[in-house]
Amino acid sequence: MAHNLYTDTRGRAKRPVPFTQAVIDGLAEGGGLYVPERIPQLSLDDVRALADQPYAQRAARIYRAFDVDLPADVVDELMAQAYGDNFDDERICPITSLNATTHVLELWHGPTSAFKDMALQCLPKFFSASAKQLREQGKLDHEFMILVATSGDTGKAALEGFRDAEGVSIGVMYPDGGVSDIQFKQMATQRGENVQVWGVRGNFDDCQTGAKNVFGDEAFAARLLEEHGVALSSANSINWGRLIPQIVYYVSAYAQLVADGKLGLGDELDVCVPTGNFGNILATYYAKRMGVPLGMLFCASNENRVLTDFINTGTYDISERDFVLTPSPSMDILVSSNLERQLFELTGRDASAIAGWMDDLREKRRFRVDEGTFAKVRETFASDSVDNATCLVTIKRVFDEHDYLLDPHTAVAYQAAENLRGENPVLIASTAHWAKFGDNVYRALHGIAPGDLLPDDVAALSGCALNELIARETGATDIPRGLAELDALPIRFEEVVEGGTGDIEAAVTRFLERLDA
Ligand SMILES: *Cc1c(COP(=O)(O)O)cnc(C)c1O
Repeated sequence: MAHNLYTDTRGRAKRPVPFTQAVIDGLAEGGGLYVPERIPQLSLDDVRALADQPYAQRAARIYRAFDVDLPADVVDELMAQAYGDNFDDERICPITSLNATTHVLELWHGPTSAFKDMALQCLPKFFSASAKQLREQGKLDHEFMILVATSGDTGKAALEGFRDAEGVSIGVMYPDGGVSDIQFKQMATQRGENVQVWGVRGNFDDCQTGAKNVFGDEAFAARLLEEHGVALSSANSINWGRLIPQIVYYVSAYAQLVADGKLGLGDELDVCVPTGNFGNILATYYAKRMGVPLGMLFCASNENRVLTDFINTGTYDISERDFVLTPSPSMDILVSSNLERQLFELTGRDASAIAGWMDDLREKRRFRVDEGTFAKVRETFASDSVDNATCLVTIKRVFDEHDYLLDPHTAVAYQAAENLRGENPVLIASTAHWAKFGDNVYRALHGIAPGDLLPDDVAALSGCALNELIARETGATDIPRGLAELDALPIRFEEVVEGGTGDIEAAVTRFLERLDA
């Protein structure tokens, strides 16, 4: 049987590849992103029927619809592992309805309390299974090391996802002194035999540049393959294997709202997503294309509003744009990688147009889409940006009105949805638990401006102790165990390395030697 194959957004890959190869490759040959040749269709009854099954089986059903080239029983088994008691709620991503037309999809019940878990509890299992199948087919003869540069959240979610995965090890670099106490402890206490964490002297940019240089060093790659039988991979958010799990929860959420009697089958539901790299919101688009009755897709930005400006003007321009620090750091971006896939779809899959715009972005730091594509963008999306002060005010207001604490990323989405919504009910993607960002939640509750210092006695608290203080003040009882226990866990990784290519390569080599021993 011919499985669904993946082509690329720039039309530069020699031939389309199956799911397993797309997952292993990450990026397509020639720099484009993989997209499925066929987008499966679900009837309204198919969608409604999902609600009868546990989440893992909903996910397996969507993977089968995408016709992945892995046996059905393997998919079922991996999904049972991906979405089981590693989540603190058996519904996996439950929905809290703040009123009859405002529904919050909580994507943070996984082990690291951020939405990245939804994909990163799943992708690594499919990565290992894909590598295994390709090895058995004689198309692969080595193992992998995932190398991640992180500003905080992604690194922990990747560590937790890849820990003790078969045939894969993982090393994560974060800027030394540049992450919160909670983020540091989440990474430094990471369990697992195949994991390593380094602080890098410098900022996040230095980390990322360091990683890029290591990935680009062909002599180093040859040596790793020769001496350790290992190839480097990044498994970052442009990997198609991270996108399908995100499509799953939007299809599932629609089915659940219908099953709970909060939505009529076929009624339109608008969705608002706090957006950075455009992965999460892209999944709403694919869910809609599959037949889920989603209405407008609201793209929420913080003060880094390049996407809002693009959606409102048709021009993506970072030629004179500064990177702003905000209370929602996981949305602090300039180059939003997955937008490329979205434009590919909205142009009717015009790879040469995409290749041209991506060249413009690299060379001129800007591109402008044609009028037809811009009209499609406007038909599909609406966007607004929320400034830092408003973000914190929103946290306080929603707590006062609904006795519900939002993290700063979700607060941006909540406020953008208020600004953009029309008649339809709205689903708000909630992407982190508030306790991951306790310092800004404290500022919000106490009317302290973003960026202002906390009172000395509060600033002296560990992240865990600050969360306990907030819980006492608000009556919140839901601090996830993975965050509450951090002060009690032993620190396993304290090594700090210089950010030079050679320094990072030496650290990677030491790690692989330790694994080989
Ligand atoms: C990664 C992240 C986002 C942004 O998601 P994208 O898929 O990159 O658009 C938003 N909120 C949180 C908490 C995140 O970790």
